[in-house]
Amino acid sequence: MVLTKRSWHLPLICQICGDKARGMNFEVMTCMSCKAFFRRHALQPIYFLQCQHGNNCEITQLTRGNCSACRLRKCFSFGMNPKLIRYKSKNHHHHHHRLLKNKNQRLPKPPPLNLLENDSSTLTNIEWNLLSNITHVYDRENPIEHAKYMLEHQASLPPKLRSKAKSTLDIVEYYYSTIQSFLERVPYFHDLSIDARRALIQHNSFTLGTYNSLLLIRETNAFDYSSYKFGCQNLYGYENCLMTKKFITALEQNRTLVKIMLLITAFSENCSIVSLDYSQSMTTMASTISLFHTQNILVSMLWKYLNYQYGFLGAAKCFHSFIQYVLNLIRWTARNPSTQHSDMVDTLIENTTRSLTMHD
Ligand SMILES: [Zn+2]
Ligand SMILES: [Zn+2]
Repeated sequence: MVLTKRSWHLPLICQICGDKARGMNFEVMTCMSCKAFFRRHALQPIYFLQCQHGNNCEITQLTRGNCSACRLRKCFSFGMNPKLIRYKSKNHHHHHHRLLKNKNQRLPKPPPLNLLENDSSTLTNIEWNLLSNITHVYDRENPIEHAKYMLEHQASLPPKLRSKAKSTLDIVEYYYSTIQSFLERVPYFHDLSIDARRALIQHNSFTLGTYNSLLLIRETNAFDYSSYKFGCQNLYGYENCLMTKKFITALEQNRTLVKIMLLITAFSENCSIVSLDYSQSMTTMASTISLFHTQNILVSMLWKYLNYQYGFLGAAKCFHSFIQYVLNLIRWTARNPSTQHSDMVDTLIENTTRSLTMHD
């Protein structure tokens, strides 16, 4: 199903309690109250909170204060990410330490404005909306759950089938195909002309698919499954698996950011500096202009979001490392470690091109 322009601009509502939302917090669109609640409770041991009513309390704006156990469970089930709290509390600790050290010398400077605390962002409502929709559109088919299911299925196969290259390649193919359904649901994509769509798919799919694979491998702990691990070593070689692990370690922790970056990469004009086929370039000025327009919307939104999360310097650092990361990824994927893999991706790109350029 394709989102219409109308459903793309839903009102901003807290996913946990239904109150008026104030932006993406820990990767989910929430109100200030649920944001503060999650920060306070998410890192506590789980037995700290207990439900008095059988673990199925309804959480609304009025009832959210009644049962912390159910509220916290709901936060986790909607994908609020506790890793992002650690990021903040580490800074907090550091700051505290500095205050103690300075105690005997002179009065410490007032603490810097904490941008995570500060809800006055420069993002417009439309931009918050866009941000929330990008993550929902990505999650719509639960790619992480599905990938986990495939890994478990592979592990349950008899040894002979399990160790066939095909069984690992099927999973990798799924990583790449999620990108197609993601793009299909983004209205901006359908605003582009057919030749622009074709050029984007042809130029960016390899990098995008690899980028998405890294996210899914990390989120499913795929290398913990020995069938998958050995399958990858057979397909791509040991060195490439090591390299994959390095890329995963360096991958941005904030899944919302990874999803935005996937989309920005998808709308970039060319992510295949090596195997560029110029016959697939955009042919008309109008295509180029409408692509610039989308790029502009996405990048301004990313920049404001980074500013909101990390402050100006943090945002600059994050942006810089994103570009660096994608460039390294492009260089790495150009080395073409396996013919089976590139044949699989080529077929997928052909199919994607056909289905995304035929009709609206
Ligand atoms: Zn709420
Ligand atoms: Zn409860």
